[in-house]
Amino acid sequence: MRLVDHFETGLDAPICLTWELTYACNLSCVHCLSSSGRRDPRELTTEECKAVIDELQRMQVFYVNIGGGEPTVRPDFWELVEYATAHRVGVKFSTNGVRITPERARMLAASDYVDVQVSLDGATADVNDAVRGPGSYDTAMTALGNLAEAGMRDVKLSVVVTRQNAGQLDAFKAIADRHGAQLRITRLRPSGRGADVWQELHPTAEQQRQLYDWLLAHGDDILTGDSFFHLNALGPTPLPGLNLCGAGRVVCLIDPVGDVYACPFAIHDEFLAGNVRSTGGFTTVWRESPLFAELRSPQTSGACRSCSAFDACRGGCMAAKFFTGLPLDGPDPECVKGNADLALASVTPGSAPRPAADHSHRSARAASRPVPVTIGRRPPTEPVAPSRACDTSPLAGFRP
Ligand code: SF4
Ligand code: SF4
Repeated sequence: MRLVDHFETGLDAPICLTWELTYACNLSCVHCLSSSGRRDPRELTTEECKAVIDELQRMQVFYVNIGGGEPTVRPDFWELVEYATAHRVGVKFSTNGVRITPERARMLAASDYVDVQVSLDGATADVNDAVRGPGSYDTAMTALGNLAEAGMRDVKLSVVVTRQNAGQLDAFKAIADRHGAQLRITRLRPSGRGADVWQELHPTAEQQRQLYDWLLAHGDDILTGDSFFHLNALGPTPLPGLNLCGAGRVVCLIDPVGDVYACPFAIHDEFLAGNVRSTGGFTTVWRESPLFAELRSPQTSGACRSCSAFDACRGGCMAAKFFTGLPLDGPDPECVKGNADLALASVTPGSAPRPAADHSHRSARAASRPVPVTIGRRPPTEPVAPSRACDTSPLAGFRP
């Protein structure tokens, strides 16, 4: 059996497990996949998090991708990182850099099991700060400088490719090189607040072609989290990595309150497999959830069935289809052959599914509202009420 066939039918443990420790965040990025901002008061306690780590160790999950929100604003964040690494669960964590002081960078550099990913969505302050907020470019660059100064080896510069920064790929690479970091670029999905701005920010067809060529030219030098496999349809050469939606098969998300979703970009009841508190722990959810069993069974290819590029592209990203209101067995909204264009045009504005909850700072939601989009977005006048209470300031008790 080929490796990809094993992946299609699922594994005993996820190989790409994302754990969002908190929805609290000091920033309000307009494309935040988890609509983060305010802490959910029901988030897992320190002891509950340690119990999850114990399970991951028993399942032989070798590392976990920790994100948020901004995970480092959780007061017990460093304690949990130490607990995980002491239990042989490596940690790759994403940060906007707010707590990466010189001292913290030196502590991180001393660990063999921690990998830091600093987010930056513009190679220049104007492009970055338009998406991530004023001052966020300087924060990220300071963090990268502190990590480089400390001699930290495993640093990634993490970029979500948008229409505004797609022309800056060489500049991002230069920033990464200058700081001894590896460049990781990923795809913008219409998840969380990303649904509000996807129409304006997702790369154009021409930019997708340039991105494909650029990635091919750079090969394994650039990490992508295998997120651009829909570009393989531009062929004939496939991009490095897997061309498979791994949701519920090898990928999943544990959210701050212990809900387990099929993918970090699919935070919606439709993709909710269980909860580590109420469904008997993470192992039970991963191995016994009916949703995951369904995702691991053979899928239909629907309208993509007759496409000559299907073997290369596999119909693209499930989350991107879902949050743009497209059928899951049809083409990706960014299908490079334009095969989703008609279906997208027929989606009634405001009718695409919305994420399970909104944790945005109220001002952030207001700020993202004027962006004129037609797909996957509430009508501009409709009030957006958070469905979960999450009013605590992310910086309450903040100490660098
Ligand atoms: S839903 Fe999209 S982002 Fe999630 S695993 Fe599938 S292809 Fe990747
Ligand atoms: S029609 Fe489907 S398989 Fe073909 S390129 Fe588009 S998304 Fe990929």
